[in-house]
Amino acid sequence: MARIELNNLAHQYAPGGEYALQPMQHVWEDGGAYALLGPSGCGKTTLLNIISGLLTPSQGQVLFGDQDVTRLPPEQRNIGQVFQFPVIYDTMSVFDNLAFPLRNRRLSEDYVSRRVTQIAGMLGLDEVLKRRAKNLTADAKQKISLGRGLVREDVAAVLFDEPLTVIDPHLKWQLRRKLREVHEQLNLTLVYVTHDQTEALTFADKVVVMLAGQVLQVGTPQALFERPEHTFVGYFIGSPGMNFMDCQVEGSEAIVAGERIAVDPAMAAAASESGGQLQLGIRPGLIRPAAADEAGLMIQVDQVEDLGDYELITGHLGEHKIHVRLEESEKIGSDGLKVVFPTEHSLLYADDRLVGGGA
Ligand code: ATP
Repeated sequence: MARIELNNLAHQYAPGGEYALQPMQHVWEDGGAYALLGPSGCGKTTLLNIISGLLTPSQGQVLFGDQDVTRLPPEQRNIGQVFQFPVIYDTMSVFDNLAFPLRNRRLSEDYVSRRVTQIAGMLGLDEVLKRRAKNLTADAKQKISLGRGLVREDVAAVLFDEPLTVIDPHLKWQLRRKLREVHEQLNLTLVYVTHDQTEALTFADKVVVMLAGQVLQVGTPQALFERPEHTFVGYFIGSPGMNFMDCQVEGSEAIVAGERIAVDPAMAAAASESGGQLQLGIRPGLIRPAAADEAGLMIQVDQVEDLGDYELITGHLGEHKIHVRLEESEKIGSDGLKVVFPTEHSLLYADDRLVGGGA
């Protein structure tokens, strides 16, 4: 296992052309589970291919621990890889498929047997070890692929490229949970590419959110939710995403549609100094209804959707569209919904960046 360092890394497919990856500087910790998350074309595959060695970056270095691997081909990098579609030998037994990467390295049959049994047990393949891979279901085949990626103990990292694409939706969460358990037991460095926020947030310790070749934020699922460092992260993570409203700042208040909203004084001061285009951001679920005798902001309600555990209100604050998540029991008055934006959840953004950034 290794920590992965991306040192001033960037990539242009054509010299002088567009950056598929903008210059970046990151360290991914040894034993961490990372997800690369972002919309199609944001550079996830490019970054994964640079880490695996399928692609040489046009700029910068990739280090595994202290070793510069930037120019090493995949087979010299000691990585496990799992792709979208199962890569297995149909005519071999499940056992032999799992054993293949170990036998390739001439490890003793005694060790191979112990390790294959351990991995098969973790993935729930123990019952089918003697069967040929050919006749198994698509998800069992992908489990074999996952097992082959995870079976070597000496790998620097295991890279997953949308590995659950072919899995039945209702089995996806089971496999994701399995992968999480396996990660906790094996303590491998895992990098998992996906465009699905649920997959990323349930799998990873740290999610790397990308847009247009840039890493916008590397953070825990909780940090991405509570303190998105970029408006795109706020918008992309969460369902629905964060509310953003243009604002001005006076003293320690943000002014939105003529209403004054208290914000953190230090954040307000930094926002004023930034000279940027300012927005107030707040999560739909972190807005709370005001008590009857409490001052609040009046939201004009356009639509109420009952989503089981909660109601999703779509409305307006002045000209700004806004979403609010409410507990079912809470009521909307004839003149709208009176709400409070708690100060600790009212964040300011200047030119799309969280004011105060990752502080
Ligand atoms: P997807 O989720 O659709 O796979 P992605 O996030 O993995 O997308 P990449 O495939 O890494 O994104 O693409 C990043 C950018 O690089 C895109 O603008 C894409 O058009 C460009 N690109 C990717 N591969 C090549 C290539 N071989 N030659 C030139 N440009 C490329």
